[in-house]
Amino acid sequence: MTQTLTIALTKGRILKETLPLLAAAGIEPAEDIDKSRKLVFETTRPDVRLLVLRGADVPTYVQFGAADMGISGKDTLMENGAEGLYEPLDLDIARCRLMTAAIKGAPPSQGRLRVATKYVNVAKQYYASCGRQTDIIKLYGAMELAPIMHLADEIVDIVDTGNTLLANGLEPREHIADISSRLIVNKASMKMKHVLIQSVIDAIGEAVDAKRPA
Ligand code: AMP
Repeated sequence: MTQTLTIALTKGRILKETLPLLAAAGIEPAEDIDKSRKLVFETTRPDVRLLVLRGADVPTYVQFGAADMGISGKDTLMENGAEGLYEPLDLDIARCRLMTAAIKGAPPSQGRLRVATKYVNVAKQYYASCGRQTDIIKLYGAMELAPIMHLADEIVDIVDTGNTLLANGLEPREHIADISSRLIVNKASMKMKHVLIQSVIDAIGEAVDAKRPA
């Protein structure tokens, strides 16, 4: 029986960098993902299909085996936990940093710190490791607004150029982790479909290496 492979991806900025890596494994969507409202895409390989999900849902699909593989930001993996997953490749795309940030020039707050973030678990762990007492406030977006509106003393967020922080009167403070997109694989799929999955990992790995400066 021919084995099939389901790969979970995220639409948007990362897709553009992801597609050439998949193409290296001979996997190209049969139609333009960005121009379609579909969630499942056939590919040029009859044994491979693509799912297009919200970023935070990719590890969940792969953990439960609803997708065999996926591409997920390390930030999402850190926040959701990576149980039931292998993380065989750093794809070296969508590089950024997970940082704390606060109002520019504000003195470090003493005592209990109010932190707004969508990375609740990461933030809890990070501040605990620094011995800081915190109240974590869960937000779903526009974290930069929270310190300005006195909802929080600090935020934990993704920083790339730092322009978003700057534009909102904030500055980066502490570096929590370097982030990039990772290839993830369901542990059971890795066993059951080893040859198929390993060939995809190898092809994508070679494409990632070929892009790295010598
Ligand atoms: P920047 O202004 O360049 O520091 O970008 C910051 C904002 O862009 C963040 O608040 C994120 O929402 C988003 N962002 C930048 N890089 C990434 C990435 N690699 N993955 C996810 N979101 C990102």
